Formats: sequence, C-alpha cells, structure tokens
Amino acid sequence: MSRRLFFNPLTGLFFRLTAKPYRRRRKAPAGPEVESLRAKAKADLPPRLARLAEEHGFHYNKVFIKNNLSNWGSCSSLGNINLNLRLVTLPQELQDYVMLHELCHLKYLNHGQEFHALLESVCPGHRELARRMKQYKIQ
Ligand SMILES: [Zn+2]
Repeated sequence: MSRRLFFNPLTGLFFRLTAKPYRRRRKAPAGPEVESLRAKAKADLPPRLARLAEEHGFHYNKVFIKNNLSNWGSCSSLGNINLNLRLVTLPQELQDYVMLHELCHLKYLNHGQEFHALLESVCPGHRELARRMKQYKIQ
C-alpha cells in the first residue's frame, strides 16, 4: 500500500493513492473475555446451525467458529460456514438470521434476488432483521 501523498491543484488538497481502503484493519482482540465467548459459541452455535440446516434442508460441510471483526458469518464455495464467536452476544432471532443467511449462501453465493427469495422463505421478515443487525457493531 502506497502512503505517498499527491497534491490535487484543482482542489488544493492532498490525497493518497491506495489499492486497499486506507483505514487499517483492526486486530481482533484476544484474552479471557474472548475465550469465554468462544467456549459459549462452540457449545451453542454448531448445534443450532445443524438444527436450522436440518429443518430447512440445507447441507453444509463444516462449521468454524471465528474470532474476527470483519463479518458475523461467511460461507465458502467448499460449503463451509464460518460464524463469528460474538454471535452469541446477539438476540437469538438475530443469531438465527445470520445462520440462515449463511445457509442460503450454500445455494447462492451472492446477494441476488433468488438469494433473498430463498432467505425470505426460511426466515420471514429477514430484511427487518438485517436492519436490526446494523445496530450491532462487531467489537
Ligand atoms: Zn451474505
């Protein structure tokens, strides 16, 4: 990443040319608090994910509990689902929303219309739940 400053004579401002967002990625915290969340997440989330998958006919490969600050969950093209250990701090309906969202990515690895239609069928009112997620920052 270039940290060189360039001058724009039209605006009179300096600017940077960067390939990645300028803001540095925060490092996910570690420590006893995180470890206790991780223990809870490992106990609670995989069984809940398995139950939701069974209920709605999804088949995933593996589930991993992650300590990161960039997302609540993700789904890989290998059919693996990653869940943020901080999910256990959210209300149950939002935990379920995130898990169902990732399960739907097993069928659609995008956020297109078909993805949203599928998610709505397994998680009615999902757009409202997505709005509620915005009040929870990963930290
Ligand atoms: Zn998504």
